[in-house]
Amino acid sequence: MKKIDLKSMELPEIKTLFGEMGEKPFRAGQLYSWIHQKKATEFQQMTNLSEDLRRRLAETCELSAFQIADRQISKLDGTRKYAFLLSDGNIIESVYMKYRHGISVCISSQAGCRMGCRFCASTLDGLARNLTAGEMLEQIDAIERDAGERVSHVVVMGSGEPLDNKENLIRFLHLVSDENGGGISQRNITVSTCGLVPEIRELAGEKFAITLALSLHAPNDALRRTMMPIANRYTIAETLKACDFYFEQTGRRMSYEYSLVRGVNDRPEHARELTGLLKGKNCHVNLIPVNPIKEREYRETMAPDVDRFKKELEKSGINVTIRRRLGADIDSACGQLRRRIQRGEVRKEAE
Ligand code: SAH
Repeated sequence: MKKIDLKSMELPEIKTLFGEMGEKPFRAGQLYSWIHQKKATEFQQMTNLSEDLRRRLAETCELSAFQIADRQISKLDGTRKYAFLLSDGNIIESVYMKYRHGISVCISSQAGCRMGCRFCASTLDGLARNLTAGEMLEQIDAIERDAGERVSHVVVMGSGEPLDNKENLIRFLHLVSDENGGGISQRNITVSTCGLVPEIRELAGEKFAITLALSLHAPNDALRRTMMPIANRYTIAETLKACDFYFEQTGRRMSYEYSLVRGVNDRPEHARELTGLLKGKNCHVNLIPVNPIKEREYRETMAPDVDRFKKELEKSGINVTIRRRLGADIDSACGQLRRRIQRGEVRKEAE
């Protein structure tokens, strides 16, 4: 029999479950706190629950703690890339980054991805499956256990398209930001999407105080279609309209991600066209020289051209940052480590 996935359950659901088990509702609160605040990985740790209840929970429920399949630590900046082994044998990856403002973790929302972006390694083998809310949370918790530090910021920018797994994403966002749960401020959470328009609008309706990042990467539909299949489904105009709606509904300023690919989308005329799209919007643009993957021909834009691109946007008053490249000496491009492990190419515990 499949065990009950407690880590993906919200408190009222655990209360219902406990009711069915003949337990008092306040016990559900104790269990929830053990899982999300004290980060217990085994029922035996839950000493304020009776021996009998702990035993019954262990028989019927699971806490889904991950095993570390691989860990690479950057010698340059301490960035850590983790590969975790899931209970069904799938592998996912997550990244730990240290900033002045705290510790940020980049998590995956799916094992693999079906969006097909040309520059991205996560999508090369397609989608294996959606991650549960508990599996999204456990990436943070497993990293906290390993690093011995509290995570303050979360970016859902690892493998997968979070809005292609919207229900589990929303459940995850509730659990991770609940003050009696994960306790991470919604303001410190960013979700990145390649631009699923109806789902952006639905997420806006949830009124989270999280930041939404849109992976734009091109200033016109023709060019975007050569880089991202999603551009065949939704035009830039309707995508930006959905982003405006997100801002109106939540008051959260949009982030636009733009990966610069040498000779493809990094020319001055592209910067001017992008300015035309974003001028006057309350938004932020992140420029990221593309991280080349060996399966594709894309190469990164050189630093002077990145600077020129940035200045062109700034001339029109657009907020722009160039994403600092962390973990340049480890497999930091999305999906690279996972693929190498699945193909048996990775050496163990490279430090
Ligand atoms: N599916 C979501 C989130 C995961 S990807 C999305 O598309 O936004 C997170 C970000 O990394 C996206 O902006 C994505 O376009 C970008 N990205 C993926 N592969 C990259 C690479 N090789 N170099 C630079 N950016 C990349």
